[in-house]
Amino acid sequence: MGWMFWIDPAMFLILFCLFFYVFSSNSITVLHRIYLLLHIVFMIWPIFQFVAQTASNTEYQLLFLSISYVGLSLLGIGWFVLTLFFTGQSYVIRKSRLFMLAIPALASVAAIVFNPDGMFLSINDTIASGKQLQHGPLYWVMIGQLLLYVAVSFIIMIYKLRTDESKRHRTLVRTVLIGLMTHLLFSLADLVVNVLFIDYVYRYIPLISVGMTLTAIYLVHAIGRNKVLDIIQIAQRDVMNTMSTGIIVLDEFDTIIEVNKVIKPIIRLRIGDKLDTAMIALTFKDEAAKDFEAFFNEVRNRPMDRVEFELELKNDRFRHIIIQSAPILDQKKAAIGRVLTFQDVTELRLLVEETNRQNVQLHDRNRDLMLMQDELSQANKKLEQMAITDGLTGCYNRRYLLLQLEQEVMMNLKFGISFSIFLFDLDYFKLINDKYGHLVGDEVLCSTVNAVKGALRKTDILARYGGEEFTVYLPHTNREQADIIADLVKEAVESNRVQIGAGEPSISVTISMGVVSIEHFEPSVIDDPKAYLREILAQADAALYEAKYNGRNRIVKRKLA
Ligand code: GH3
Ligand code: MG
Ligand code: MG
Repeated sequence: MGWMFWIDPAMFLILFCLFFYVFSSNSITVLHRIYLLLHIVFMIWPIFQFVAQTASNTEYQLLFLSISYVGLSLLGIGWFVLTLFFTGQSYVIRKSRLFMLAIPALASVAAIVFNPDGMFLSINDTIASGKQLQHGPLYWVMIGQLLLYVAVSFIIMIYKLRTDESKRHRTLVRTVLIGLMTHLLFSLADLVVNVLFIDYVYRYIPLISVGMTLTAIYLVHAIGRNKVLDIIQIAQRDVMNTMSTGIIVLDEFDTIIEVNKVIKPIIRLRIGDKLDTAMIALTFKDEAAKDFEAFFNEVRNRPMDRVEFELELKNDRFRHIIIQSAPILDQKKAAIGRVLTFQDVTELRLLVEETNRQNVQLHDRNRDLMLMQDELSQANKKLEQMAITDGLTGCYNRRYLLLQLEQEVMMNLKFGISFSIFLFDLDYFKLINDKYGHLVGDEVLCSTVNAVKGALRKTDILARYGGEEFTVYLPHTNREQADIIADLVKEAVESNRVQIGAGEPSISVTISMGVVSIEHFEPSVIDDPKAYLREILAQADAALYEAKYNGRNRIVKRKLA
């Protein structure tokens, strides 16, 4: 035999490898693969039966027949595995169990390969051709294991048909069941005709081959018709149809390829039609229709880009819809179509609007609060002012003066800063009250305060000490400076004329004043500044009394140590 002899088997091997290459591609499902495995097993029998018949040598004949029988003995487990996968029970086949489940089939294969003493198959070439095959007891063992696998498969399928609710599963199981029954029928017929009654038939009839081929044709046809194996496509469609986003898939010529369920009630579209944008725009009202047309124009101008816009619909209900167009690109990045998605974001928009509204409210409330705070702080300031000022004359009150003096005197003592204090009282004020009344008396008090203020410096503190008696604190002021200012004050009051009403002559008052200036400091007094302050005020009071006693409208000066 030359090398030419090996071309055929080599070609077969290449074709077989090609089959497995395609077989392992990603786009076919596990169920496809399981079916194809059975299909391969189907293919072994007819080809090697044929080869065996063409072999002239008995040994070769036996070899090829044995190979075909190996294929035959795997049919049972093949159907069993197919049944498990197609009934969704592939979990039964775990690594640990696989060997156990395969034992009957493997034992059969071993029996065929070793064929001890021709106990599986022998060829008796002394008798008429066509009847030379002698099946031994191991052959019946093989038939037994085949029937065992088939029986178990039948039981599983019938159980599944009764219990499984899913229509897709039932279709799947029914398909396999019919296939298996067809196969079984032909195989049994073959057994009867070609094995049991071989003596009565004229020649070998290849019923097994015909049966397997018919079964395969049926299975392939049923799988194609019912799309039972297109689980991924079905899953994709399921996903598309259960999404809340509307989807339209278009090819490069704007022909509609796919529309999901969400779209159907909103826009009437038929698969295979060209997408009529003008017609779709008509389903929306004026403004929205214009927006929609503009969107499609943009999509046409930028076919390679993802285009998005938000459509506001004001039909029966207010709706916000985000429409997006994205190109579908092939492996060379060329646009081969487009996906349009319609997403209703009304809820989201309403939520955002509501949030914004609440934000504005919050902002308003915040502003009100801030205004209130402002008013409050102003009122507080007023209160503070009121607490330290005299209600009638507007100068400081006694409380404020004393507080201020306590601090100032302490600092002055500490740093040796000289300061002065006036205490003055209006002369014969009672007479004014008696003559012109209390209101005029008040008027005179206010006017006098203004006149005094005019003669004082900004840093001097004028306070109403009580009734018509006033105190002035003059910081950083020595005796000479205090004398000058005291004279200025006295003259300002004297020359101040108070208007008491239309037609009445204006009146004027005078004051008597005690002045105390502190220039030298005894270290001992620093121990009790409060007592020292009391002492100062007492001195001022004494000076004032002296001024009154000496005839009024005069200033008495005291120098404190
Ligand atoms: P003197 O020269 O001795 O001070 O005589 P005088 O009349 O001023 O006597 P005195 O100081 O004792 O009297 C004070 C008077 O001032 C008593 C009171 O009626 C009046 N007086 C005190 N406070 C007010 C005030 O707020 N408004 C008015 N109109 N009169 C007041
Ligand atoms: Mg008086
Ligand atoms: Mg008085």
